[in-house]
Amino acid sequence: MSRQTIIGMLGGGQLGRMSALVGANLGIRTHIYAPESDSPAAQVTNLFTNAGYDDQAALKKFADSVDAVTYEFENVPVDCVRFLESLGKKVYPSSAVLEVAQERLKEKTALNNYGLPTTRFAPAKSAEDIQKIMQQWNATSCIIKTIRFGYDGKGQTMVRGMDDAGRAFADLKADIVIVEKIVDFECEISVIVARDVHGNVGSYDPSLNVHKNSILHTSTVPAPVDASVLEAATKAAHQLAEKINLVGVLGVEMFVTKDNSILLNEIAPRPHNSGHWTMDACAVSQFEQHMRSVAGLPLGSFKRHHNAVMTNLLGDDINTIPELLKNEKAHVHDYGKAEPKPGRKMGHVTHLK
Ligand code: AMP
Repeated sequence: MSRQTIIGMLGGGQLGRMSALVGANLGIRTHIYAPESDSPAAQVTNLFTNAGYDDQAALKKFADSVDAVTYEFENVPVDCVRFLESLGKKVYPSSAVLEVAQERLKEKTALNNYGLPTTRFAPAKSAEDIQKIMQQWNATSCIIKTIRFGYDGKGQTMVRGMDDAGRAFADLKADIVIVEKIVDFECEISVIVARDVHGNVGSYDPSLNVHKNSILHTSTVPAPVDASVLEAATKAAHQLAEKINLVGVLGVEMFVTKDNSILLNEIAPRPHNSGHWTMDACAVSQFEQHMRSVAGLPLGSFKRHHNAVMTNLLGDDINTIPELLKNEKAHVHDYGKAEPKPGRKMGHVTHLK
């Protein structure tokens, strides 16, 4: 890469913003490409294309102006990433990784094929299919989810008994759903793993994640679970990064079961909300690891210098910032979003312990 590396970033959200900010510290310029005219990421960079993901003329111009491309949310259309790749542009992580991460059936199937455990799952195209699966599993309840575009608990519902299958299937308004066995989990953890272009892999300490109303509320490190669980979680994340030929950062969400085994639930091929604590508790943050790997630079240290609790600031929580700033152990991040809608991720605060 040339002396002045320019990374193209599809998406204009807070993950792009935080990546662009740390990229700037390394002399990397970020060109944001987003359909929204005002976005958290575009506020911090002067290289900005405001166009749709299907605008091939704009995508071509964008590709010509950058050294490599990444994305900051996984619902970027795969066709857009494939188009950029067809122009000879490197996109990290690749379209193949994105495709798997976008679709829950492909995702869980791939994980199982790599020898990584998930909860039991099956596709269903009707309420009757769901009932058949429940019978087969001898289950009195299950969770069904849309196979795409689910986030923060959206696009999923619990089926509370055979009679509830019709209501649940109709609620999701989808032609096909994934039926999942309910995991009676002890807790939820995640591992943020990174891999560079040369195949070096590293990861942060797994965090304990607590959700409120299906939205991540806090991430705590160290996670108060057995060392053997942390080791298994880390090993699984590293194996996955290698199997998918990852370049960049990947968040791997897992359940810890009552008998201390792990089940992988979801993967996100980008910096992850449960890794925001790394900005303040580690020498090199997940965003910096991401920008380093996409720019072809070596990964940095994954060491944690403090225990930490990251809390998301949703909606009006953002108004507590003046109070939070009085606490010298509180590290506050405001994403610059104008409207504090209920449940909207407006910022986060990491308390170092
Ligand atoms: P997801 O969209 O798959 O990340 O699910 C959102 C949240 O729903 C998870 O963080 C869990 O708290 C819960 N959840 C999802 N799938 C299951 C499952 N199979 N069993 C129990 N809880 C689940």
